[in-house]
Amino acid sequence: MARSTIFFICFLTLTALHGIHAVEYLVNNRATTTPGGIRFRNELGAEYTKQRMAAASEFIWRIFQQNTPAERINRPQVILFVDQESKYVAYVVNNEIHVHDDYIENIKGDIKWDFNGVLFHEMTHIWQNGLGKAPVAVTEVIADYVRLKANYIPAHWVKPGGGDRWDQGYDVTARFFDYCNGLKNGFVAELNKKMKDGYSDSYFVDLLGKNVNQLWTDYKANSDSSYTGSAAANSGVVKSDFKNSADVNSGAEHSVTVNSGDAFADTSVNCMAYSAETFVARSNNLNHAAGLKFDPG
Ligand SMILES: [Zn+2]
Repeated sequence: MARSTIFFICFLTLTALHGIHAVEYLVNNRATTTPGGIRFRNELGAEYTKQRMAAASEFIWRIFQQNTPAERINRPQVILFVDQESKYVAYVVNNEIHVHDDYIENIKGDIKWDFNGVLFHEMTHIWQNGLGKAPVAVTEVIADYVRLKANYIPAHWVKPGGGDRWDQGYDVTARFFDYCNGLKNGFVAELNKKMKDGYSDSYFVDLLGKNVNQLWTDYKANSDSSYTGSAAANSGVVKSDFKNSADVNSGAEHSVTVNSGDAFADTSVNCMAYSAETFVARSNNLNHAAGLKFDPG
């Protein structure tokens, strides 16, 4: 009897501790009557989405090497909304992920695979440091790095070694970050920790012992020199509209440059995730932005 009582108390204690740190995942489909909202309900659904939100969180915490709840951003609740009106395909504000029903409606190919790519990107914004402090371009690249590691990368991404500049953004810089993390497992985790207070190019020296331009030179030298898949994309052609998936698939977006200062005047909104077929970010700001640059500081 005594033993079972002790066991019961332990059980209660564990349950209580778990309750303190458990994250509650919620889904609110506010587009129940639109084609995209109906497709969400029929082909994805709230239960599946909540499972994937939890799985993405576990994955991201591992990448950030946040083994205990105390190391993570404290968010008792994360809510995913399916919205009818949005400038973006998906974005994050605080503990909310907003997904546009129009994006769901127009997913081509495997809906779950495409949705997970966007979801893992957006969930990274939920848990990462630096939003509103570090340049948008850097936080976006970390979200794309997570997407890369989760293996939800669109076919049009450059191969490892592709690109012309380390700060080109999107797939190019996500691949570069993957190389950096290969030099020191935990680079991205450490960078995320440092980004609590902002961002500086000097973090590369702090973490890897070389400045970022030297690292990029090493990266290019180590990559397969026969790979030229992104050459055309990086020729300097600037597209001003991401909507056409033909443009995306041609690789033209690799030369599109987004100024982190222009991209989101409201830094509380974080997005730039894109579907495998169509760029998610379709704001006028993004479409007219120029010069992706990681502003130090
Ligand atoms: Zn994003």
